[in-house]
Amino acid sequence: LSQLQRITITPTQLTYPQIALTPEQQHYLGRVLRLRPGDRVIAMDGQGHWWLSELDAELKQAHILEAVAIQTELPISVTLLVAMPKGSGMDDIVRQATELGVTDIVPIISDRTLLNPSPQKLDRWRRIAQEAAEQAERQLIPTIATPMKFADALIHWQSNSIAYLCEARGTYPDLLSCLSKLNWPSEGFSSVVLATGPEGGWTEAEVQLAIAAGFQPVSLGQRVLRAVTAPLCALAIVTSALEPMQQPGKTD
Ligand code: SAH
Repeated sequence: LSQLQRITITPTQLTYPQIALTPEQQHYLGRVLRLRPGDRVIAMDGQGHWWLSELDAELKQAHILEAVAIQTELPISVTLLVAMPKGSGMDDIVRQATELGVTDIVPIISDRTLLNPSPQKLDRWRRIAQEAAEQAERQLIPTIATPMKFADALIHWQSNSIAYLCEARGTYPDLLSCLSKLNWPSEGFSSVVLATGPEGGWTEAEVQLAIAAGFQPVSLGQRVLRAVTAPLCALAIVTSALEPMQQPGKTD
């Protein structure tokens, strides 16, 4: 299965068991990859379903042969509140955070954020997330929220999530120790929220605001990481701490 091309489909494309391929998919599968009628692809709906499918004679449709059982998602949802770095840094964050298993990304406009993204940027990030999810063989495509102010993002987090603010300065416990102390999964929270700041760091006011909203400030180590590196480091720590060893992994 790992050799098969993956395509992402929207609900309107699916009339079970037929999948109408978009013109772009027809072009990509037929002209670029040179697949033939009868060749197989994996169709994914971005909601956790994968189907082994066969291309029809005209390459305009595929029909579903069987559902594919896979488990490549983290055992808990992970939301990343990420202050947007300058330049194209957010592209890298979206791509790599998706590979690491993030569930939701909320681009944050913080006190020291320099970037004011255009709507085209948001579309671009969503495309990058889709491509990275396909490449990483994920079942879910992470959502990317419309950029929002940090204060507005903070009020969304409920008591069933456990939230950490990554802070480069000060003496805070490190994220791995905090996660290791949790009695997960019995402790009853269903998501982890991580917040990382921009190049200039969080302002003191933002740190206080986050603490008041229930965020625990944490360290990612003794070095000061770049705004692009910090979220990936935090996600890698969450993955290692919470992904159970016995979870069945990728299929081949
Ligand atoms: N210029 C700032 C650092 C910003 S680093 C300063 O000198 O203080 C960008 C963001 O990455 C920070 O806001 C923080 O969220 C995260 N970060 C970087 N290094 C970190 C570390 N060692 N521990 C925790 N968070 C870190």
